[in-house]
Amino acid sequence: MIKEEYDVIVIGAGIGGLACASLLAKAGMQVLVVEQSSRPGGYVGSFKKKGFTFDCAAHFVTGCHKNGVIGKLLRELKVEREIKFIKVKAPVRFIFPDFEFSFSLNDLEGAERIIKERFPQEAKNLDRYKETLDRIGQEIIKVGSSFSIWKMSFFPLLFPSLFKYRNYTVRKLMDEHFTDERLKTILSISPVTVPPSKASLLMAAVLKVESQEAGIYYPKGGMQSFTNVLVRGLKKYKGELLLNTLITKILIDKGKVQGVKLADGRRIKATYVISNASLQQTFYKLVGKKYLKKRFIKKIEGKELSLSCFILYLGIDMDLKSLDLNFRINVYPTYNTEKQYEILKGGEIPEEFAFVMTFFSLIDPITAPKGKHALIITTAAPYHYHKDWGTGDGGEVEYRRLKENIIKRMVEKAEKIIPDLSFHIIYQGAATPLTLERETLNTQGAIYGLAATPKQIGPGRFKNRTPIKGLYLVGHYTYVAHGIGAVTHSARAVANMIVKREERR
Ligand SMILES: Cc1cc2nc3c(=O)[nH]c(=O)nc-3n(C[C@H](O)[C@H](O)[C@H](O)COP(=O)(O)OP(=O)(O)OC[C@H]3O[C@@H](n4cnc5c(N)ncnc54)[C@H](O)[C@@H]3O)c2cc1C
Repeated sequence: MIKEEYDVIVIGAGIGGLACASLLAKAGMQVLVVEQSSRPGGYVGSFKKKGFTFDCAAHFVTGCHKNGVIGKLLRELKVEREIKFIKVKAPVRFIFPDFEFSFSLNDLEGAERIIKERFPQEAKNLDRYKETLDRIGQEIIKVGSSFSIWKMSFFPLLFPSLFKYRNYTVRKLMDEHFTDERLKTILSISPVTVPPSKASLLMAAVLKVESQEAGIYYPKGGMQSFTNVLVRGLKKYKGELLLNTLITKILIDKGKVQGVKLADGRRIKATYVISNASLQQTFYKLVGKKYLKKRFIKKIEGKELSLSCFILYLGIDMDLKSLDLNFRINVYPTYNTEKQYEILKGGEIPEEFAFVMTFFSLIDPITAPKGKHALIITTAAPYHYHKDWGTGDGGEVEYRRLKENIIKRMVEKAEKIIPDLSFHIIYQGAATPLTLERETLNTQGAIYGLAATPKQIGPGRFKNRTPIKGLYLVGHYTYVAHGIGAVTHSARAVANMIVKREERR
C-alpha cells in the first residue's frame, strides 16, 4: 500500500533510478520508485523462454571490481554477497573483410602483436598511439569520480591530456597517427552508435580503460540478477517499488515540484522528484512546455539521440563447443563505417550491415538447457525505418513483414559463421526500435540516450539539476555518459546533491 506522500519519488526503475533511490533510502529518506513496466531494470533485465534466459538489451557490467562504481555501491548497500559476477576472460573475435583476429581483454599485448604483424608499416605509429591513449587513460583513472572545485580550477595543469583531447573525435586522433584507413576503422571500434568522425575520443578512452584495465563482468543467471540485487538494496532500507504504474504528470506549483500524477489519476506528493525517463518524456510529456523557458527547450532540441538497434534472440540446439566459437563475434562487412552510419541516419539498414553475436551460455551455462545455447545478434537500426517500421502506412502486417525480413537476413549472415544454424533454431524472438521504445519509454528506442559526441559527453551532457526546483534527472541522458557504470555515477551525483540540500534545510 503506497503512502500519500514521500520525500523522494523516482520516475523509472532503470539502473540510474534504482541506484539513486537505494542511496537516498539508505540516507534515511522515504523513497518510492514508480516503474511503468512489470519488470524493473529498463534496458538491464532478462526474460525466459523455453528454458533459455535472454538478456533484453545490455549484456555486460563494468566497474564491478572492489573500487569500481558498482562494486562500491553494492558494498555500501550491503548486498554485495547476494550476487556473483563472472569476470569475462574469453577472447572476442573481430571479422573484417580481409582480416580476422581474436583477443582476450586481458591480453592487449597479444592483440597489439597481431595488428602489428598485419600492418607492419604502422607499427611505430601504433606505439605512439598507444602512448597517447595510455596517458589519457591514466588521467581518467586519476580524475576518478571525486571532482572537487580545486581539481576543476587547475584542470588543464593537472590533467593536460584530458584537457587537450576533450573536443577530439576518435577519427581526429586516428588521422594524426595512421595512414591505413583499414587500421583506423579496426582501432575505432567501441560501443557507441556514432562513427569515428563523430565519436568522442574521451568516451572511447573511458570505455577502453574500464573494460581493459578493470574488466567486464556478467552477473550469474543473467542481467536481471543485477537489477534484482539493486531492488533488494532499495528494500533493505525501506525504499518502495511500484511496478506496472505509469507516471503521467510531474506536478509543479510556483516553479517547484509538488509530486506526481499516476495514470489512474492518483496524486502522490513529494519534496523531490527524480526522473530516469528520457529528456523528451520528462520535459514535454510529464512537465509540459509551459513551465519551460524557450532557451531550455532549444537546449533539449539541440541534443542528438543515439541510434536504436534490432535484436534477435535465438535458442539453438547445437553443440557449439565443436565449432570453437568465441563468446562474442563482431562482424564488419566493410571498413567504411562512416557510410554505414549515413545509411542508418537516412532511415535504412545497410545491405551488408555490421552485427555482433553473443553466446551467453558460453559464459554462464545456466542461461540455456543442457546441450543448447542462447545466442543474441544485434545490429544498429533507425527508428524511422520504412516510415517508422511501417506503422505509419501498412500497420501491424507491414511491421511483421519488415521484422521477418531482417530476421532472415541476420540468420543468413550468422549462418556463414555457424553452418546450418537455421536448422537448429528452437526459439526465436526479436526486438525493433519500436519494441525498445515501448518497453523502456526511451524516445525513439535510443539505446544509449544521447549520442556519444564530444559535445554530449561529461560536462556537455544534460545537467542532473533542472530549472524546476526539486526536479532532478538521472540516467543515460545526463552527466556523465551512457552505460551501466556511467548511470550509476549519475545516480550517486544526484543522491549527493539531495542529501547535501537536506543537510542545509
Ligand atoms: C541493446 C543494448 C545493449 C547495451 N549493452 C550494454 C552493455 O553491455 N553494458 C552497458 O554498460 N550498457 C549497455 N547498454 C546501455 C545501458 O543499458 C544503458 O545506458 C543504461 O542501462 C540506461 O539506464 P537508465 O538508468 O538511463 O535507464 P533505462 O534503462 O533507460 O530505464 C528507464 C526506466 O524508466 C521507466 N520509465 C520511463 N518513463 C516512465 C514513466 N513515465 N512512468 C514510469 N516509468 C517510466 C522505463 O520503463 C524504464 O524502466 C546497452 C543498451 C542497449 C539498448
